Amino acid sequence: MTNLIEIEDVSHAYQTASGPLPVLDGLNLSVPEGKFCAVVGPSGCGKSTLTRLIAGLMFPDRGEVRLHGEVIRSPRKSVGMAFQNPVLLEWRTILNNVILPLEIVAPRMPRAKREERARELLSLVGLEGFEDKRPSELSGGMRQRASLCRSLVHKPDILILDEPFGALDAFTREDLWQLMHQLRSEEPFTALLITHDLRESVYLADQVVVLSGRPARTQFVLDIDLPGPRPIEMLYNTQSVEWLAQLRAQIEIAQGRSDPRNSTP
Ligand code: ADP
Ligand code: MG
Repeated sequence: MTNLIEIEDVSHAYQTASGPLPVLDGLNLSVPEGKFCAVVGPSGCGKSTLTRLIAGLMFPDRGEVRLHGEVIRSPRKSVGMAFQNPVLLEWRTILNNVILPLEIVAPRMPRAKREERARELLSLVGLEGFEDKRPSELSGGMRQRASLCRSLVHKPDILILDEPFGALDAFTREDLWQLMHQLRSEEPFTALLITHDLRESVYLADQVVVLSGRPARTQFVLDIDLPGPRPIEMLYNTQSVEWLAQLRAQIEIAQGRSDPRNSTP
């Protein structure tokens, strides 16, 4: 299988008033086409920075970020992004919020076609009938569903999710996890999910990457070989409990709370 995203030996520092702040240090990461990669790591270690490098919104000081084998040198149109705060525009209806990326990426697409595509996605995520509402008329979970539609409407080959479910209550979050699996079976994309929630990473991902504390490097990779949608109950089986314990131990190491020499992989 070919890698869609390849991050090779990437280092990056921000220039701040008090000098350079190294954020990434020799980071390596590969995501095969069509796979779902979850990235976990201590707060402030450089996860959002990593997403900006993949989207081509920033370029690394050292190393290469490649998509389809090509080094990224400009912002990418074929990326969809969703964040913890859905940032929907209040002066647009839900339908017109979802259409927005098409206006930018496919300006010549006829209005009827754009609408058809947006309506199809909204119905897929259970928002049929809410197309003409304003964002403030929807619940947090519904807004996040609409935001997912917006990030997928232009059929991006990469979906970047930066803690999109973090602000939702536990039940809504689980609904959206299941929705992610459903979306994956309907829409082909390669995903990179940043999350603080280890259960979320195990339920959704084919590969969980633990980053070290700042400056971040790849500390640990867990492969989860379970094709197709997963029942939520899988989180309670022996295998998942073992994976969660492994990840928990790695996070402790990344946070500097545990001595790596005492951990058994
Ligand atoms: P994470 O998403 O893992 O919490 P970020 O990638 O947002 O971490 O940030 C990593 C570190 O870089 C943090 O210490 C943050 O304060 C700092 N940082 C982020 N963006 C900038 C910036 N534009 N300029 C200076 N420092 C930044
Ligand atoms: Mg972040």
